[in-house]
Amino acid sequence: MAGSKYAYVRRFELPDNLLPGTHIVFRLDGHAFHKFSDEHAFAKPNDLRALELMDHAAQRLMEEHPDILLGFGESDEYSFLLKKSASLYNRRSAKIATLLTSFFTSAYVYHWRDHFPDTPLRYPPSFDGRLVLYPANQHVRDYFSWRQADTHINNMYNTTFWALVQQGGETTTQADATLKGTISSQKQEILFSRFGVNYSKVPERFRKGSVIVRDLISEPQPESNVEGDGGHTHSPRKKRKDKSKPQYTIQILHCDIIKDDFWLARQHLLED
Ligand code: ATP
Ligand code: ATP
Ligand code: MG
Ligand code: MG
Repeated sequence: MAGSKYAYVRRFELPDNLLPGTHIVFRLDGHAFHKFSDEHAFAKPNDLRALELMDHAAQRLMEEHPDILLGFGESDEYSFLLKKSASLYNRRSAKIATLLTSFFTSAYVYHWRDHFPDTPLRYPPSFDGRLVLYPANQHVRDYFSWRQADTHINNMYNTTFWALVQQGGETTTQADATLKGTISSQKQEILFSRFGVNYSKVPERFRKGSVIVRDLISEPQPESNVEGDGGHTHSPRKKRKDKSKPQYTIQILHCDIIKDDFWLARQHLLED
């Protein structure tokens, strides 16, 4: 089709396909959630409803896109690992980043009331999203270690900060000053000696974040196992299609993903 005389402007849209055979990591982060969490009266330091809503939206995204093998979430952010051979939307960068971000955002809004039945949504939240390519398995391991280490550092700070404010009666400015320059062991000491909190007893969800993993439960059945071939009637084709697909479970964990164990038990995350 020739189209109109205006159609030439299309040629200004350049291809943006991602390099093949590389791991794709997608991360999204809530826009101005400091304000959003205030406006919706999130409990500090960790509002469980808000974290569960993030997990819910992430799980919906992984159900929608079988190419996503792993998700990791903390606070207002989520990271996702797509399989190396992912071919969704022909690996077009903008298409992937925008569709994943908007699906997650609409799932967040769609499920808001399930998690905040008594808090009306006061305005539409938004998330930014980015894609990063990692050529080596070690990069992917280090990426997820980086995010989980960040969770640990932030949660330790926030737990101590809000204990000083909520139980210690300090202002936020004072609490900031009290914690300035302290190392992890000093924060643990403040928590324990002043507030009787043993940091290692803080729920793992808060200390380690949320890990959503797609685990393979059965390999695809070879096509030859199915009787008949080339039939175009509906039901046998449907059955064959189902059997030829690998079967997965998607589960939410709050476990360590820095050490080797998690990855050794799930070699499919990094292999093709
Ligand atoms: P930006 O738009 O640059 O991301 P931001 O305000 O979203 O700005 P972040 O660094 O992403 O800043 O931090 C998110 C903030 O949202 C946290 O600092 C915290 O105040 C709040 N927040 C997010 N999730 C929760 C939660 N589950 N419970 C309590 N507060 C939360
Ligand atoms: P893609 O994901 O590639 O964009 P698509 O199905 O969204 O696929 P588009 O070319 O974007 O395809 O076309 C959008 C389609 O949505 C239209 O062809 C039409 O069928 C339907 N549609 C959108 N808006 C309206 C509307 N206001 N009234 C009726 N149909 C609509
Ligand atoms: Mg944010
Ligand atoms: Mg953030």
